[in-house]
Order: sequence, then C-alpha cells, then structure tokens
Amino acid sequence: MSARVRCPRCQRPATRCYCAQLPSHALQNHWPVTILQHPQESRHALGTARIAQLGLSACNLLDATTDSIAEDLAGQRVALIYPGVDSQPLAVLHDQPPHRLLFIDATWRKSRRLLLESPFLSALPRYHLEALPPSRYRIRKEPRSDALSTLEAVVYALGCVERMPDRYLPLLRVMDWLIEEQIEAMGADTFTKNYFARNRFARNNLPADDRFDPTRHE
Ligand SMILES: [Zn+2]
Repeated sequence: MSARVRCPRCQRPATRCYCAQLPSHALQNHWPVTILQHPQESRHALGTARIAQLGLSACNLLDATTDSIAEDLAGQRVALIYPGVDSQPLAVLHDQPPHRLLFIDATWRKSRRLLLESPFLSALPRYHLEALPPSRYRIRKEPRSDALSTLEAVVYALGCVERMPDRYLPLLRVMDWLIEEQIEAMGADTFTKNYFARNRFARNNLPADDRFDPTRHE
C-alpha cells in the first residue's frame, strides 16, 4: 500500500492508522471541549488534538488563526486552560454548571501571540491544571518531562471538572500506541528531536519569566 494513502478518519498514513485503538464509542463528555489549533500543529505527526476530537462526543477543533472564534464561542461559559499569574486552579469550577473548556494547541510563543492579538481570548477567565502525573511523552532524553501534550491536558481537565479522574484515560492509551509506533518507525533519537510535545497547561510548567514570584512586589 502506498504510504501516501491516508485514513480519512485519523488522517494518518493508512498503514499506520490508529482508529482501531480508539474506544469503540466516543466517550460522552458533559463539559464540551474546543481546541484552537495553530495550523502548524495540525501537520504535527503526533497530532494529539485529533485523538481528542475523535474520541470525545463533544470536542471540536477550530483553526486558531481564523477571525470567527469570538462568534463561534459567543454566549457560552468558556474556561480557557492557560496558566499564568492570573489563572485559577481548574478545581474552582467544581459544582459549577458545565463550561466549554478551551485549549490552545500551539507552542508557547504562538499561543501567547494569539492571546495578545485577540481581545476576546485575552478577556476569558484562565485556569490551570494541578497535581498532574508526569507526561506520557516518556522519552528518556526529553528535556522537560513535565510538558503536557494537548490530549493529556484535555483528559486531565475533563477528569477534574467532571470529578472522574479515570474516565478519559483510555484516550491516552491511543497516544501511547502512537508514540510506540513512531519510535519504532524512526528511532528514539529522531523522535525526541522532532516530536517533543511543546504544549504546557500546568502552572508549574510555565517558563521562568511567567512564574509568579510572591517576593517581587514593586
Ligand atoms: Zn485511521
């Protein structure tokens, strides 16, 4: 089979399709999810946002660079999962009616630029994840073992707000399978160099200049 033939569902080369690894039915999430994806991320071989889209009943992917984001999300309670000095722990939303959980699937630099350039996004209340297990992008040479993929952030955030920490873990097994498969295909060194997850959603994953320093009161 030609490597160029793609699975229409997961969009992977047909010979390396992960659809059989997905749960047989999409998991029913009560808190809907939207992932704003930078076009560069959609070309990323691991594309974990797509696993979330395929594996959850209420998860959509929007191009982060389109102008209609404010329209698409208008009139909804939206919680942006993006750590910062003014973000709150996501658990403060316990016992609240469902909000739409919004994630940005982009590098730090690109996501910061998106926020700066969008008055709508920058005005949203921000939340961060807490008490996370280490990332499952568990390559030995990985420079930051605490960096989370977008899929992991979605899985842990839903588990937190819906108070069912294990409910969405089956989606991570798809990612595990994909990682093993990628490592096998290209060798661990190349994988680490090219496919390190660059997205971070937890406050303790912030770059040093973003960390809140309580001693720094000018
Ligand atoms: Zn597939």
